[in-house]
Amino acid sequence: MVHHGHSHRHYGESMLSVEEALERILSFFHVLDTEEKPLLDALGQVLAEDAESRYDIPPLDNSAMDGYAVQAADLKGASKETPVELRVVGYVAAGHLPTDTVTPGTAVRIMTGAPVPDGADAVVPFEDTDEVERRAGSGEITEIGIHFEVAKGADIRPAGQDVRAGALVLAKGSTLRPAEVGVLASLGYDKAKVVRRPVVAILATGDELLEPGEDYGPGKIFNSNSFSVAAGVLRYGGVPKLLGIARDNLDSMNAKLQEGLAADMLITSAGVSKGDYDMVKDVLSQHGKIDFWSVRMRPAKPLAFGVLDAPAGRKVPHLGLPGNPVSAMVAFEQFGRAAIHKMMGKTVLAKPTIEAVLDEPIHNNDGRRVYARAIITRQNGTYHVKLTGDQGSNLLTSMARANGLAICPEDVPKMDAGELVQVQMLDWPEDVF
Ligand code: AMP
Ligand code: MG
Repeated sequence: MVHHGHSHRHYGESMLSVEEALERILSFFHVLDTEEKPLLDALGQVLAEDAESRYDIPPLDNSAMDGYAVQAADLKGASKETPVELRVVGYVAAGHLPTDTVTPGTAVRIMTGAPVPDGADAVVPFEDTDEVERRAGSGEITEIGIHFEVAKGADIRPAGQDVRAGALVLAKGSTLRPAEVGVLASLGYDKAKVVRRPVVAILATGDELLEPGEDYGPGKIFNSNSFSVAAGVLRYGGVPKLLGIARDNLDSMNAKLQEGLAADMLITSAGVSKGDYDMVKDVLSQHGKIDFWSVRMRPAKPLAFGVLDAPAGRKVPHLGLPGNPVSAMVAFEQFGRAAIHKMMGKTVLAKPTIEAVLDEPIHNNDGRRVYARAIITRQNGTYHVKLTGDQGSNLLTSMARANGLAICPEDVPKMDAGELVQVQMLDWPEDVF
């Protein structure tokens, strides 16, 4: 009872749902300014202006096949037994303009992508002609036998079929995937105007922490949160800036926080649970605002969120993740990822989920939304979910074994084997498919 009262006094308000926490957090983030950069460097960023085409693509009617440009009307009645013979009056390759005109009774040899000569209204592929036999004979081809009738327009790709000059091709707000990068290149653009990537400062806190690479010491642990979170920042498109470790005292925290003020966002880990948030609260209140929340989720119930006052009136949002390594990662997935994506100009911020069959129960004993570390496999076309075992929030290797987070809703005390469950995929590993 004493503890219950204590936690209420400190947290100050009832628990927030994940959605409420997310909404509050996102209200402090805005789409960042834009930058122009070489096409390939913009992969994964969001287009900041509409991309219109200055040209038709393809630019001219052109051949879909290697073959002969003809007049379809000449080929009435053509068959293997009764081929129609046409006089070959020229040749055109891709990248060259035709110099010859197709008139009745004639053909021009044409390669894939080459512009169709005046007068021609169809292309006949090589394999529907007697070219191979003729080559085996004299070699020089002055006439060609055609084995099939063709329809007008056959194997001709019309100018502007893919893109019309002046058309809107990619709208502002599109994320540049390999296809969009290719489309921009096809329009002749070597640069893209995109929303810049957010710089995310990352600070670990705790007297017990060592940086990886330092000498192991008794009672110490290595700082893993900074690295799992920084890797997540990279994966979701941000630029991580590692600030190292702040010790559990005012001076150390103050000094490190200064370094975070140039970033678009600060993420700290630890110091937000009941035992030690008083110090963090003291420090952060001197730099701006800080709230300590209880979010109705497991893991990662304690969360801090604030705004730091930076020079020139800038405000830097601060996400304070719990210290336990799994809690830090799960809270980052729910809140940090969405904030980064919002700053990048993305509009769909929810993490996509799949539906899968539970192979074992999920227990939910205190009315929080459970994000259970899960191993998703695919069996006979159906996704199946097993848990990674002990769900302790300190067990970071269980995150390494998981490829998804299976979600048990807050008002469901138990999900049984055989039930369908929503799963946030952490990865799409090749062996799932
Ligand atoms: P705290 O929020 O400071 O009570 O930390 C909760 C737990 O997370 C403690 O066991 C810490 O040792 C651990 N922890 C805190 N920061 C880190 C970190 N950067 N890397 C790994 N574990 C951490
Ligand atoms: Mg601590």
